[in-house]
Amino acid sequence: MSSAPTRVACPTCGNSVEWVPESEWRPFCSERCKIIDLGAWASEKYRVPITEDSDEPESDGPPIEPPVPKAAK
Ligand SMILES: [Zn+2]
Repeated sequence: MSSAPTRVACPTCGNSVEWVPESEWRPFCSERCKIIDLGAWASEKYRVPITEDSDEPESDGPPIEPPVPKAAK
């Protein structure tokens, strides 16, 4: 009975955005929020999954030894 437009939450800031043609940046509330979201996407996308700890000890210490069973008797 009411003709209230659908509202969605802005993915960036969580603001309520009316899902109407006038909301040019929906589902974002503004161009700024859209850019922020795209920027976050880009940085995630271009993040190379490389472990940067190259100063990892190669063979420092003894290898993994099995636990010594105690002669409990
Ligand atoms: Zn927003």
